[in-house]
Amino acid sequence: MPNMPIESGTPDPFQYMHPTMQKNFGAWSYHDRPRPGVLHHVAKSGDEIWTVRAGTQRQMDVYTVRKLCSIADDFADGYVRFTIRSNMEFMVKDGSKVDALVSKLQEEGFPVGGTGNSVSMISHTQGWLHCDIPGTDASGVVKSLMDELHEEFIREDMPNRVHITTSCCQINCGGQGDIAINIQHTKPPKINHDLVANVCERPSVVARCPVAAIRPALVNGKPSLEVDEKKCICCGACFPPCPPMQINDPEHSKLAIWIGGNHSNARSKPTFQKLVAAGIPNNPPRWTEAAAVIKNILKVYKEDAREWERMNDWVERIGWPRFFELTELPFTKFHIDNWRGARRSLNASTHIRF
Ligand code: SF4
Ligand code: SF4
Repeated sequence: MPNMPIESGTPDPFQYMHPTMQKNFGAWSYHDRPRPGVLHHVAKSGDEIWTVRAGTQRQMDVYTVRKLCSIADDFADGYVRFTIRSNMEFMVKDGSKVDALVSKLQEEGFPVGGTGNSVSMISHTQGWLHCDIPGTDASGVVKSLMDELHEEFIREDMPNRVHITTSCCQINCGGQGDIAINIQHTKPPKINHDLVANVCERPSVVARCPVAAIRPALVNGKPSLEVDEKKCICCGACFPPCPPMQINDPEHSKLAIWIGGNHSNARSKPTFQKLVAAGIPNNPPRWTEAAAVIKNILKVYKEDAREWERMNDWVERIGWPRFFELTELPFTKFHIDNWRGARRSLNASTHIRF
């Protein structure tokens, strides 16, 4: 055999697909939702399939995965798939199996829901399990918040679907959401000068800073870095390439809540999320302060939005002043994005400056 490269892309999904879905791929007639958490698809051939969606605790041990797979073997047709929000979906081609499957999942503690106009499972970035720069846990915030929002997951009585996201740093894989909970650093990095020369490539750290606030420096005779704290916007971008520039802080790393981000252009144009609450304590293990703000926003949205209005459509209609009135969240000068620093100091050049 010639020495062939190992292909390691996405595996062919058809080998794992339920046979009814394989057979009718691209040839579906319509679908409906007979009850929350259950989707019913009818193919042009007349074939039918029911999909039952269950929420999980996201980070799962092997026993839980085995339990879910046993449920798939005993109560469904032996096929499962994960959604991008870590729900697990079970497919059955016989509608009479749905009730028993739903009951078994609920009995084992897995809520069935997340379809239609519900609060779907919160998506989160990787957090401490896989990443080296988080300012907070990600799956922990999600688990504790979903415990609070359990009723909104299993019912479908929001005006439209609500997608919530969490992000454990301010700069990398955090997403847009109807509601987004993002870490917010509030002070410049604290530099451990003894380590910088051994650990950091100083030119790449200097180049990382979006506002050109970092300069090389000699400290106690050793090569190190210094930060112009007046310029620093506390973004955290220097911490990944240079861990001695510690920015995470149990007291000063806070949570911020943003709303109205929407990737979809189904009813209106996609929108960027906007800051509505900042300086919320990053308070494990239940993050009660963040949970209270989220629940309040959801309550007001549910009461005030018209049918089918997504969070951004609703705010667009009532206006931001009314949003702050209704939610009673304080509106401060920090909510106004009037930063003009980029015009002068954005490190937009490809050159490294010393
Ligand atoms: S959001 Fe930031 S800290 Fe969290 S997993 Fe992504 S890169 Fe890592
Ligand atoms: S990269 Fe961000 S946190 Fe680091 S010095 Fe620059 S502005 Fe401050």
